[in-house]
Order: sequence, then structure tokens, then C-alpha cells
Amino acid sequence: MLKNTLTTSMILLGLGASSAAIAEQKIAVISSFSILGDLVSEVGQEHVTVTNLVKVDGDAHVFSPTPQDAKAISKAQLVVMNGLQFEGWMPRLIEAANYQGVQVVAADGIDELSSKEAGCGHEQHDHAQHSDEHEQHDHEQHSDEHEHHDDAQHDDEHAHHDHGDIDPHAWHSIKNVKVYVRNIAKGLIQVDPENRLDYQQNAAHYTEELDQLALKLCAQLATIPEAQRKVITPHDAFAYFARDFDVTFLSPQGTSTGSEASAADVAKLIKQIRHDNVNAVFMENIADNRLIEQISRETDAKVGGKLYSDALSSPDQPASTYLKMMQYNVDTIVNALQ
Ligand SMILES: [Zn+2]
Repeated sequence: MLKNTLTTSMILLGLGASSAAIAEQKIAVISSFSILGDLVSEVGQEHVTVTNLVKVDGDAHVFSPTPQDAKAISKAQLVVMNGLQFEGWMPRLIEAANYQGVQVVAADGIDELSSKEAGCGHEQHDHAQHSDEHEQHDHEQHSDEHEHHDDAQHDDEHAHHDHGDIDPHAWHSIKNVKVYVRNIAKGLIQVDPENRLDYQQNAAHYTEELDQLALKLCAQLATIPEAQRKVITPHDAFAYFARDFDVTFLSPQGTSTGSEASAADVAKLIKQIRHDNVNAVFMENIADNRLIEQISRETDAKVGGKLYSDALSSPDQPASTYLKMMQYNVDTIVNALQ
């Protein structure tokens, strides 16, 4: 009898302590931008609090971290970033925060595209040839740039560019996001091994949702004849989407919003829009859309709506989660091209 009572009270104590611990000790996760933040929330659910450095509708390419951001990182238990040089400001920020905890590079292990493949769409038979040409071309171009920029501060960035002409916008491939989810789950398990099973189950469940969405989106896009699947956006954010969904994306700007489109690039694009009979151009939630409006005026291609490229929307807008963003982008493209 005594033994039973003791066991019961031990169980009660144990339960009380662990539910208090759950209520008090959520894992504080810092995510570099909103799309990743949503993925972390999906995998972490009730075990995490997620703070995004670049907020909804924000542009991570040109983000300037504040001392508050460093402070938030210094208190975090897990930091999640995209990688592929998307957040060039991140390493310095982590150093400034003197953060020693676990870091997840979500894009580790994805199927990468080079920046120069952006906009090539489904013309994969040309890729091998093109990337050869581009590599040579790039090195010449870049070494010129280097000579002009002797500034010590810029050396870091340029060194990165040389090694990684990799398009960072890998989240527009659902296949890649499944890798992101795996990496995030691994990071959470490392920080919080007690809830391993939850993280694994959440990741598996979300991966199923991703698979279902991919099938649905492919079916939607298949209703548009392939020759009509040509899309203009302000910056080259959709090369992975192009590869997965057989849509051709063209942009006046490169893979970063930090670089401006040249007049020659714009003129070339306008010529191509006329030649290829591209009949819709799109705005982006994070970009400067004036150029797109100009292109629309000069080509009679109508503005087909707004695509969500590098950030989610606020909760009252239609792209507040990754799944909603992908669905919204495909709906918008299909509606415009029909
Ligand atoms: Zn971008």
C-alpha cells in the first residue's frame, strides 16, 4: 500500500514537473526569413517559438541587421538559415552575437542550380553546354570586377560569389523543401532530443502535405500549354520553380535584388517578350516593381498579379505559409496564362 502511494505521488510529481517544463521551456529559434520560419514552426509545433529576422514581405538580399537582431540570436537555442549565400549578412551577425549554439543550414544537400541557369526553364538539354560557356564568361567578368573593387570589406563577398554561383532560391522547389524539413528536424532533435519523436512525426506529416501539394500544382500547370508557360518577374527568384514545374521565367534583374538591371538587359528582355509573345508579367511582394510596370507598358503584356518570391505575406494576405505561398503563386500564374 505504501509502495503504491509512493509510486502514485512520484508519477504525479513527474507529470507536474514535465508539463511545467513544456510550458516554460520552448526552444527559442531564430530563423533568417519568414519562409524558413514557417517550416520551423511546422516541424517544431508547440515545442518552439520562432522569430524571423527578415519579416514578412521583407527582402533578405538587402537586409541590414540591427543590434536587436544580434541580441535575439545571443539568446537563441537554434539558428536556422537558408545558406547558398542568400543571407550574406548572417555570418557576421552570428559572430557579433557571439552565438555558440546549434546552426542549421536548411539548404544543405539540396539539388543546386547555378545562378546562370535562372530563367532557362525547362530547356534542360542546353544546360550542360550553357553552364560551360557561362563559367568561362563569368570568371572573366568577375575578375574585372575584382580589379575595380579593392575595398577590403568587399573582398569577402566577392570571394563567396566566385565559389558559389549557386542560385539561393531553392525553396521554390518542393523537392528541395523536403530536404529543408529534414535538416530542420535534425537541428531541433540535436537541441531537444527528448521530443525527437514529435519532430520526426511532424516532419513526416508535413512532407506528405508537400508531396500532395506538388502533385496538385503540377496538374494545375499542366492545363496551360507548355509554349504559353512563359513568365516575367522582377528578379530571378524562380529558377527552381521553373525546373520543377516546366515554366520559363525571365527577369530584367539577376538572382539578387541588390544588383540593378542594365538598360541593355531591359531592352533585350522587351525584345524577347515581343518575339516570344509573352503575354503576362508579374510583380513580386519583395521587389521594386516599377521596371515591371514599364515593361508592361512597352510590350502590352498585362500585369498578371503579384508572386511571392523571397518572403511570406502577413497573416491577413494569401501567402502566410509556405504551402499557401506555393498554391497562390501557381493560381496566379495559371489564371494569368489561361
Ligand atoms: Zn531573391
